[in-house]
Amino acid sequence: MAKIPHRFYLTEEQMPTQWYNLRADMKQQPDPLLNPSTLKPVEEQDLYPIFCKKLAHQEVDCTTRYFDIPEEVLDMYKIFRPSPLCRAYNLEKALGTPAKIYYKFEGNNTSGSHKLNSAIAQAYYAKEQGLTSLTTETGAGQWGTALSEACAYFGLPLDIFMVKVSYEQKPFRKAVMQVFDGNVIPSPSTTTQVGKKILQDNPNTSGSLGCAISEAVEKAVNTEGCRYVLGSVLNQVLLHQSIIGLESKKAMEILGEYPDVVIGCAGGGSNLGGLIGAFMQDKILGKSDTRFVAVEPASCPSLTRGRYAYDFCDTGKITPLAKMYTLGSGFIPSANHAGGLRYHGMSPILSKLYHDGYMEAVSYEQTKVFEAAVQFAKCETILPAPESAHAIKGAIDEALKCKESGEAKTILFGLTGTGYFDMKAYSEYLAGNMTDYVPTDEDLEKGFATLPDIK
Ligand SMILES: *Cc1c(COP(=O)(O)O)cnc(C)c1O
Repeated sequence: MAKIPHRFYLTEEQMPTQWYNLRADMKQQPDPLLNPSTLKPVEEQDLYPIFCKKLAHQEVDCTTRYFDIPEEVLDMYKIFRPSPLCRAYNLEKALGTPAKIYYKFEGNNTSGSHKLNSAIAQAYYAKEQGLTSLTTETGAGQWGTALSEACAYFGLPLDIFMVKVSYEQKPFRKAVMQVFDGNVIPSPSTTTQVGKKILQDNPNTSGSLGCAISEAVEKAVNTEGCRYVLGSVLNQVLLHQSIIGLESKKAMEILGEYPDVVIGCAGGGSNLGGLIGAFMQDKILGKSDTRFVAVEPASCPSLTRGRYAYDFCDTGKITPLAKMYTLGSGFIPSANHAGGLRYHGMSPILSKLYHDGYMEAVSYEQTKVFEAAVQFAKCETILPAPESAHAIKGAIDEALKCKESGEAKTILFGLTGTGYFDMKAYSEYLAGNMTDYVPTDEDLEKGFATLPDIK
């Protein structure tokens, strides 16, 4: 066989035309979402005021194995997909490992990350249902950017409540969203009741994700033809992201490869769930013995140190309750944490797989993660997002284990995005000013104390 190329692209014709729903093959289902007021499992119709109907259906459907990707969604996917499956020859050489390292690169679009895969689907279904606008929140800005692009494409107005501190510190992110007509509002704002109340109580607040979610939901609920959308954690988002794993599997098949280990970074779990889906199917069906590794920051360790419990998905405690690995919705990572992945919980699907022993998890301190990012950038000429660099660090460690044992394993990891908007964090790392903080058990107890009391 000819040498495997540095970058391998499927053709447009080879692109998957369906998403894969991993729940259809799971031996045991994740526990259902609960209505926060009745504590009863959420029915599809209960979700209609929050999500458009097709997405509400995808959220609760545990049996349909494949969903057709709508033609209009595929058309926009084809602007930036298939994404390349890359062979990290230079990194392998630098590490002196016998392992073969592959990565699926999702940063080849203006939003700079995998988030566009779900943003397009969510904007499309909203437009199809005849909705006339959407709202969302964004912290650092990646999700807001992806959704702005998708909404501009489908002609749907979008309000983005952006955490005020990011709004002020990251003016270029705001400008990118504005290019795509996203209406960026610093949160807390005076455009909602909840925002006004927060500002009254605390005029100098720099905002929080919890507050931005509350504003976005209030705006959606009070606006005719408007819905609120989320960029991670949910089952529907993992479904849309399954395109990452389906493309990877097909590309590897053509190259005559199959991964022994699949590694991804884990914030809310959407890229990891999407990357592992098609491979996890084989493992669940007894066709492979691949290992799956979730990598998270030591400063926000929901899988490695969290509790498996029902919790709110947001800090404002207005969303349905999800059974997941969580640090408690009141958990806030330490202020020096620059590497992203700061969500308190984890996708219920991934939480269940982890709980049942199908997946492993590791955590790393951020200086180690940036060290891996810089090494990778020099070898592979891609400046990785700090989030993605967690997966890089995981892959490097696996490859170094192979060096010790002499095993030529095949490693696949997800490179979720580029780091051009994270240069402040890179500068701090390069100047030697970056520090690590690992929460003590006592710190974590404060977050666990915010867990709702549900048996
Ligand atoms: C948002 C984001 C993540 C983390 O989100 P998941 O839902 O866990 O995938 C990882 N990498 C990048 C580049 C992101 O923008």
